[in-house]
Amino acid sequence: MSGSLVVDNIGELVTNGAGEGPLGIRRDAAVLVEEGRVVWVGPSAYAPAADRRLDAGGAAVLPGFVDSHAHLVFAGDRAAEFAARMAGEPYTGGGIRTTVGATRAASDDELRANVRRLRGEALRQGTTTMEIKSGYGLTVADEARSLRIAAETSTETTFLGAHVVPAEYADRPDDYVGLVCGPMLAAAAPHAKWIDVFCERGAFDVDHARAILACGQAVGLGVRLHANQLGPGPGVQLGVELGAASVDHCTHLSDADIDALAGAHTTTVATLLPGAEFSTRSPYPDARRLLDAGVTVALATDCNPGSSYTSSMPFCVALAVREMRMTPAEALWAATAGGARALRRDDIGVLTPGARADLVVLDAPSYLHLAYRPGVPLIRKVLLNGVPQ
Ligand SMILES: [Zn+2]
Repeated sequence: MSGSLVVDNIGELVTNGAGEGPLGIRRDAAVLVEEGRVVWVGPSAYAPAADRRLDAGGAAVLPGFVDSHAHLVFAGDRAAEFAARMAGEPYTGGGIRTTVGATRAASDDELRANVRRLRGEALRQGTTTMEIKSGYGLTVADEARSLRIAAETSTETTFLGAHVVPAEYADRPDDYVGLVCGPMLAAAAPHAKWIDVFCERGAFDVDHARAILACGQAVGLGVRLHANQLGPGPGVQLGVELGAASVDHCTHLSDADIDALAGAHTTTVATLLPGAEFSTRSPYPDARRLLDAGVTVALATDCNPGSSYTSSMPFCVALAVREMRMTPAEALWAATAGGARALRRDDIGVLTPGARADLVVLDAPSYLHLAYRPGVPLIRKVLLNGVPQ
């Protein structure tokens, strides 16, 4: 949309830049948007004239949420598995193969419709950037089409051919790793920005993970990985060693893992996915230990049909505050600027001049209400690239 837009009468503006406290808060503020970018932030009383005006009515305005970890390309659901788990069965990750079967059987249009449905659902809850992974195809053709479809909706696409070893390779995992590093990567890479591996007992061990991630790096993909979700392991330290943008889950960490993430030269973000612990009734990651050690923390949904079927960043913020003892400010920063760091982006997750005009007007006077009023639809308006949705 051409022309300028001013959002004024903002009671509480979270900039994640200059301003009060860690969130860079400004009171009685306004934001001027031109060509999809923030070009001015200042007091509402001094807001420049613009072609159009959006009156925030004294409400809080935040950067749009950056959900840096989501698995949206799949078919079917696993509601029955969820019900069984809530009745006492443990989560092992084995149900991924159920979704692989349904995904392979689905048409392109069915997969596309599901991605769009979930992306729309997230957008209505304030998510303006959403990473999308493949990982339920696990054949050359199915991984390539998963990423092709993901790339229609997001520029943050991730090749996760190493999600699990599919059933047909169960007794020859080395051959599957060869497939992932060879023809599958070649078919996936044109549609992907990132490569990811589920480095966990029962999925891929550290040697396989290192080999796969190195192949991805060699063709220009950035590295991220699923690490230390179901138990302690080498994933987090492998991620730091490889300069991964993010290590995700971080539920079971040793002191050495924390030290690696807190290292002076470490640029790897720890992305916490409390929707997974909520939905699998598992212990939450120790966010306080990470934050107190100075680690950069992001929050994301892990939206997937098995272990965390939520697309709601406000829900994850509420969980982070209530269950992981993050302060509301830490949780909101992690869900916006933290997610941007996990995607190595500096144009999103902030509302400062030059940033993308991705912002959320709340139906509340303060961001505190995101955790204070859990489960309540508080997203009044979303601007994506400066365009009201
Ligand atoms: Zn995941």
